[in-house]
Amino acid sequence: MGGTFDPIHHGHLVAASEAASTLGLDEVIFVPTGQPWHKKPVSSAEHRYLMTVIATAANPQFTVSRIDIDRPGTTYTIDTLRDLASQYPDADLVFISGADAIAQILAWKEIDKVWSLAEFIAVSRPGHKLELPEAPEGTISVLEVPALSISSTNIRSRAEEGKPIWYLVPDGVVQYIAKHQLYRGGN
Ligand code: ATP
Ligand code: MG
Repeated sequence: MGGTFDPIHHGHLVAASEAASTLGLDEVIFVPTGQPWHKKPVSSAEHRYLMTVIATAANPQFTVSRIDIDRPGTTYTIDTLRDLASQYPDADLVFISGADAIAQILAWKEIDKVWSLAEFIAVSRPGHKLELPEAPEGTISVLEVPALSISSTNIRSRAEEGKPIWYLVPDGVVQYIAKHQLYRGGN
């Protein structure tokens, strides 16, 4: 599951957990993006990586990969999938993505090659209509997940305004954000 994770929130975690259970996945690897091609993260890659580690630490099925944040330059999914495929040569890779992100998929670099590297799961997301891009037969499947109307953008504004973010993100992430004064400007 790729994402900016700026910060990671319960919407991401519920989607990952539901995908793991429904599809019978062995593991969910959270892959924080290095430099996304479509937006500039507010927090450093290291902060986003550590918040993702904190949020997933208690779940034995969840791990976090540094492959995208350690690769220099813009992050492209084709590189993420190729690197994961060489790290896990025997695995069947499944790319978990929300309704909004799946719609952008066609703009990805080397999209023709991306389809052969993984199966794509589009999870439902409140406030986003699920529009599936044109893809080869059987490459994208849709998965209904329990609806959580949470976004990182909303959490960042709440933190900036001094509003509570408890229960929207894991407790450790609330504490990490407070400790490092993230989303308060100047980070
Ligand atoms: P931002 O508001 O900064 O864009 P975000 O909440 O959309 O953050 P991302 O890191 O952009 O989070 O998302 C990573 C992946 O998780 C994307 O595929 C996105 O569609 C999915 N996702 C994010 N929030 C939810 C949610 N509440 N329910 C289901 N999927 C989600
Ligand atoms: Mg987003």
